[in-house]
Amino acid sequence: KQVQAKQDYDVMAQAAVFYQQQLKQHANSEQVIDYLKSRGLTGETVKQFQIGYAPSEWDGLMKSLGQSKQSAHQLRDLGMVIEKETTKSLYDRFRDRVMFPILDRRGKCIAFGGRIIGDGTPKYLNSPETRIYSKGRELYGLYQARQANRGLERLLVVEGYMDVVALFQAGVTYAVASLGTSTTTEQIKLMLRSTSEIVCCYDGDKAGRKAAWRTLENALPSLVDGIQIRFVFLPDGEDPDTYVKQYGKEAFEAQIAQAKDMVSFFYEHLYDEIGQTEGEFARSKLSQLAQPLLEQMPDSEYKNAIADTLSVKLKRKIDVKSVDRVTQAKN
Ligand code: ATP
Ligand code: MN
Ligand code: MN
Ligand code: MN
Repeated sequence: KQVQAKQDYDVMAQAAVFYQQQLKQHANSEQVIDYLKSRGLTGETVKQFQIGYAPSEWDGLMKSLGQSKQSAHQLRDLGMVIEKETTKSLYDRFRDRVMFPILDRRGKCIAFGGRIIGDGTPKYLNSPETRIYSKGRELYGLYQARQANRGLERLLVVEGYMDVVALFQAGVTYAVASLGTSTTTEQIKLMLRSTSEIVCCYDGDKAGRKAAWRTLENALPSLVDGIQIRFVFLPDGEDPDTYVKQYGKEAFEAQIAQAKDMVSFFYEHLYDEIGQTEGEFARSKLSQLAQPLLEQMPDSEYKNAIADTLSVKLKRKIDVKSVDRVTQAKN
């Protein structure tokens, strides 16, 4: 099994090298490099993140790395080529895309994200789950963030590959992307092994707000004393990539400095759900929504702060040690 894993890492490393070579050698090279330039990326950043190009042919990777039956099947198992159901023939999963290697904590390539060049759908194509890649357990950019910083005072969670890369290039070297719509419990634990503060910075749209809330929910069990989580919402229509390009590093970091604290976001979101802040309906609804969340939290300053605020809002005492009993007594 260990031999298998080593071979898998080798093949993925070879694929990353192949895509990087294609970025230089392929007939489309100039056009792809122009695209990367139009996104503001420098050659140095491209190298640092090992960004490459998946050629437009159906068998680019297959021809280069999948010549034996064994290696072809390995590429299939690693999600790099797809087997046609009817003929069992194999073709490249990623074609004519900018390739972002996803590295594990040791810097080994375990998967890829591929962006279409220009407009089109799907905008991003990602590796499927494989025997070496479980997307809810990895964070894009974590390896680079750890390499670039001695200790990580904080980690910034953003939505996309381009956000991580553009921020890094602008000098914000502590961003990671969660590779899915929201950040999982495992990803939060993974971050908390490197830092004690997480700042969520999702896009300034409805989907971004929703993802932020899901992240908060998933973080609740991990919020012991000493851990902080905060939330930044960029103006609607902006993402960290566009924001840092337009306004620069200082302005972006000023946004981070003003991130919403967890308790404010917690109540803002719940009142948003409820639709009103005053009256008996709002109070009973708030109690209903907040108590199960409180129950998921370990005893901490955060829990006390949320409980204190709740007791003010509900105009009755909330005992954090007996949240269950309080709920039962009320209903
Ligand atoms: P870009 O700046 O290159 O246009 P983005 O990162 O801003 O890309 P968003 O639409 O904000 O793109 O999506 C955020 C992230 O969600 C992407 O980086 C990608 O990881 C993921 N994503 C977006 N579209 C898809 C898709 N069609 N399939 C799978 N994942 C996607
Ligand atoms: Mn968005
Ligand atoms: Mn975006
Ligand atoms: Mn973007």
